[in-house]
Order: sequence, then C-alpha cells, then structure tokens
Amino acid sequence: MLIVMKPGAAGQEIDAVISVIQNIGLRPHPMPGATRTAIGITGNTGPVDGRRFENLAGVAEVIRVTKPYKLITLDLRPEKTVVRVGDATIGGSELAIIAGPCAIESHDQAFAVAKAVKQSGARFFRGSVWKPRTSPYAFQGLGEKGWKIISEIRQAFGLKIVTEALEASHIDLIEQYGDVIQIGARNMQNFSLLRKAGRSKLPVLLKRGMAATLEEWLLAAEYVMAEGNYNVILCERGVRTFAQHTRNTLDLASVPAIRRISHLPVIVDPSHGTGSAYMVTPLARAGVAVGADGLMLEVHNHPELALSDAAQALTPTEYAQLIRQVLAIRDLTTPLITDTPAQSQAA
Ligand code: PEP
Ligand code: MN
Repeated sequence: MLIVMKPGAAGQEIDAVISVIQNIGLRPHPMPGATRTAIGITGNTGPVDGRRFENLAGVAEVIRVTKPYKLITLDLRPEKTVVRVGDATIGGSELAIIAGPCAIESHDQAFAVAKAVKQSGARFFRGSVWKPRTSPYAFQGLGEKGWKIISEIRQAFGLKIVTEALEASHIDLIEQYGDVIQIGARNMQNFSLLRKAGRSKLPVLLKRGMAATLEEWLLAAEYVMAEGNYNVILCERGVRTFAQHTRNTLDLASVPAIRRISHLPVIVDPSHGTGSAYMVTPLARAGVAVGADGLMLEVHNHPELALSDAAQALTPTEYAQLIRQVLAIRDLTTPLITDTPAQSQAA
C-alpha cells in the first residue's frame, strides 16, 4: 500500500498518517518528492485495508500495490533518487565515476592508482580489502592492512571510498573508514547482509547477482530499503549466459528497464561485465549512452602484475582516454534522455 499526500499537505498531516500506520503495527516509509510526499507501508503479510487512510486530512490517494516492490518504485517517488556522498552525487547531473583497482594490494599500488583516477575526474575510489574469490587458494585481499591504506587514500585524495562487505562485521568497518558499502554479485541475495546494510547510514551499492533476474535484483534493493536505508545504487555487472567471448554478458537493457520501474540510480560496471580490458572502453561508452548514472571501472598501475582480475584492468592512460570519451557521450545524450518522460508502471 502506498499513500500519496496532496501537494500542499502539512507536516502535521503527514505525521498523522505515519502515526496511524505505526499504530496498526506497520512501518511507514515517507518519501518527500518535488511536488508531494508519498508514504510506503511495509510489515504487512496480507492486504491492508486502505479505506482507513482515505479520509485523513491531506491524503490525495491510496494506491494498492500489486507488484512485489513497494519502495523502489516510481509510484512512491516519481523523481530520481540522487544519492549524496559528501559533496559528490550518484544519480544527479554529474556522471559518477567509481574507479580503482580490483583489490588493494599495497600502499604503492593503491596510491599510484588513486592519483591517476583522481587526476582524470573520479570522485570515488574503489578497491576491495576482502576479495570473494572463486578459489580458496587465490589472493583473498589484504584485510586489516588494506584498511589502513584505504583510509590514508581517503585522507590524502579526498576520494570517497567504495568497498565491498562480505559479512556483517565488514559493514561496521566500512562505517568507520569508508563512504559506500558495496554488496557484491555473490552476496546479492545474502538477506541478512542486505538487512544489516539497510540499517546503516551509508549508501549501498548493490551489484546484480550473476544469475539474477531484474525482479530478484530489485527485491534485493527492497530488502535494504525496507530497513530504512533509501540510498541504494544499482550496479549492472553482467550475468552468466552461454557466451564465451566475455566473462559475463553485460545487460545494458537493464538500465532503461529499471528506469521504467524505479527511482534508484543505476551504474554500469564494464570491467566485470566483460572481463577483458579491450572491451571495457566500448562498453563504458555504451553504458553512458544508454543512460547509466555512472561507471565502475577497474584500473591498475601495472595490470600485468595485478593479484586479481588482471585481464580486465585498464592502465591509467587507457582510463584517462575512456573518461574523455564517456564525458563527450554524456554531454550529447543527457538532453535526449531527459527529454523522455519517465514512464511509471503501476506497482
Ligand atoms: C568487485 O567489484 O570487486 C567484484 C567482486 O565484482 P562482482 O561482485 O560484480 O563480481
Ligand atoms: Mn574485480
């Protein structure tokens, strides 16, 4: 159920609706928008009788939710969500660039890459401290030592730190040293981790699971939002298909598909989405052209020496060239994309 308040509804009227929702044992999710506030309701297992809200002051409309999503939808918030991370944004007018190595390997490596990506316009630095590797014998990340390096980078360059939480205790550490909690493809349906991230004050970058449908991915975002954290960024990173020419098949159609349903920002990761450095730039260009709010890119100062994902790492020079190209595309396509009215689906 979704309660849409009248455009001029007073704060007290909104509070009164919130109280009724709480008094019947459910959870209100007020979403202020440009023209009106809508209030999502979660916590019910069966249908809620909406008539009790219809005559409350300031209520414009009570909408029954027939889709499995409640909080990610354009019905709840017709405007796009802009996630603010300090003075940087994701989903706003700037193209968000999240760049850095696959893993933090050493002080020198991380600093060299941070310097290069900062010079070429990144506001966010990525780099995993813990790596979820297919093989238990592969490099698992620096762990504790990585934290020290990443917090020095944050300090030295003013870059916002995006790093992956593999388990609940990592979220506490990211809250201390980082800026954005990344939930990786392998954990997209780790529901206890999603709930814990949903109780954090930090934004959550939610990667698409490698075999997740759009619905499963959006429901994973609902897990985070249902706990009260509305700052979720979706990241398309490719899915498993029969194709053998790429590591994953980057599903760029998910960007407009999500736009049609959700207010959440969507970024594209052409590094994991292709697995090969030579494909990263063309797919980054395509991702921006299709309307992504940002890119996640793996960069290494010596790709040939990288301890993980060496084949997909860009050199700093390749990265700088990519950024020039995608910014030119963004300038060209933004007016065209924003000309198209968002089409909401009844949810
Ligand atoms: C990563 O971004 O470091 C990563 C492991 O990606 P994914 O979860 O998409 O495989
Ligand atoms: Mn990687």
